[in-house]
Amino acid sequence: MRRMSSSTRPGASSARPHIVIIGCGFGGLEATRALQRAQVDITVIEKTNHHLFQPLLYQVATAGLAAPSIAAPVRVLFRNYPNVTTLLGEVSGVDPDERMVRLNDGSQIGYDHLIVAAGATHSYFGRDEWAANAPGLKTLADAFDIRRRVLLSFEAAERESDPLRRRAKLTFAVIGAGPTGVEMAGTMAEIARHTLQGEFRHIDPGSAEVLLIEGGGRVLQAMPEVLSQKALVQLQKLGVEVRLNSRVTGIDATGLTTQLADGSTQRIDSHCIVWAAGVAASPLGRMLGEATGAEVDRAGRVKVEPDLSLPGHPEISVVGDLAAAMSHAPGKEPRPVPGVSPGAKQMGRAAAANILARIAGRATQPFRYSDYGNLATIGRNSAVVDLTTPFGHVRMSGRIAWQFWLFAHVYFLIGFRNRLVVLMDWASAYWSFQRYARVVPDLPAGVPPETKG
Ligand SMILES: Cc1cc2nc3c(=O)[nH]c(=O)nc-3n(C[C@H](O)[C@H](O)[C@H](O)COP(=O)(O)OP(=O)(O)OC[C@H]3O[C@@H](n4cnc5c(N)ncnc54)[C@H](O)[C@@H]3O)c2cc1C
Repeated sequence: MRRMSSSTRPGASSARPHIVIIGCGFGGLEATRALQRAQVDITVIEKTNHHLFQPLLYQVATAGLAAPSIAAPVRVLFRNYPNVTTLLGEVSGVDPDERMVRLNDGSQIGYDHLIVAAGATHSYFGRDEWAANAPGLKTLADAFDIRRRVLLSFEAAERESDPLRRRAKLTFAVIGAGPTGVEMAGTMAEIARHTLQGEFRHIDPGSAEVLLIEGGGRVLQAMPEVLSQKALVQLQKLGVEVRLNSRVTGIDATGLTTQLADGSTQRIDSHCIVWAAGVAASPLGRMLGEATGAEVDRAGRVKVEPDLSLPGHPEISVVGDLAAAMSHAPGKEPRPVPGVSPGAKQMGRAAAANILARIAGRATQPFRYSDYGNLATIGRNSAVVDLTTPFGHVRMSGRIAWQFWLFAHVYFLIGFRNRLVVLMDWASAYWSFQRYARVVPDLPAGVPPETKG
């Protein structure tokens, strides 16, 4: 084992192996949990002070839930793990020769084993300038930004006397019809049709247009076609206008332009645009590729060995959305692991087990992903579920799928209090159609309410 100076090894009290984990999302949290009873010292480095349950982030963005219901402070999560030190900080680099992790503030931390679980971020396909007018949904800050834009667009429409400008302020565009785009569009339509009814005097919130714009030929492309079709029908019932085969070619402060399959273009005036179209791995992926020679794919994910370590660097593992990993089921062709939370959790546990195997001098095991299926919610009583069971696929849609989705998400939330609060908030919202997290922070002086930023 490599020796470290104590200044680079926070909380070090022994010569036990030191495992550094970058990121406390689904992958990092599961890896830490799997190592909590082992004879190792662990340092978790996370750039926010909380673990975030991203699958319910759209509920914060659409004012259905308050942030603390879907986030848990990292320090609280590891309070009872004496071998875990938590550091709030952003990792900017890794030196594999010195076995050091570098933080933004210039400090360095040594490791014997490293798990990188830094996740993913938005990709604007090379058009990063679109971000200012079409925020994506990944962090709590993104969710607050989107919530502010949605609610303040209605406020701006109420004060607008020009009919064309009012229409633009009542036009909401969601780009990308994957699970996040579908959830966002369905919920925005509900806000317009139900939540805000009776609250405005000069506009009818129900007349708002919610557009879901998708470059491909169907919504929820990762789902079987039959469920995509059902999701489309459910979206339309909720009042969402779905525009398929429409590729976004421009976004600015007052709207967006799309190109249709026949080459023609369309301008959509909108003051509230949400980006749910592209995902790219954390920049740490490319940094690791350069530092270790590991191959990085087009999305910036690091190609890992079957046991999730890096080629030539068995002491570094990459898990979750940052890893281009394959599932190795005995007797079957390796298959790519999807970028979903069960994948990240399973990889976190597998990487932890392989590190313990290495420390004990045992052979590591190839990663095998257990796929339980896919679910996506669309709105009240609307969802689609494709479950993978040992007996084949079980497919559901509509109310029963929605109930299944609801209980699955409450079950997987972190903490009893969060589960209880979410259940109560949802029950109350179900009966009242209200959304209680409609507070937006004060606007800086001089900023028109519907503007971005
Ligand atoms: C809006 C949304 C909805 C989703 N819905 C679903 C769903 O319904 N079902 C599903 O299965 N999956 C869903 N996903 C995908 C799922 O959330 C991800 O697959 C999962 O979070 C990946 O886990 P991870 O640990 O790789 O990354 P993350 O959970 O993203 O965690 C990465 C962590 O690393 C931290 N970090 C990043 N860079 C650094 C750095 N340089 N230094 C220190 N810390 C750093 C981040 O702050 C973050 O906490 C959704 C994702 C989003 C964004």
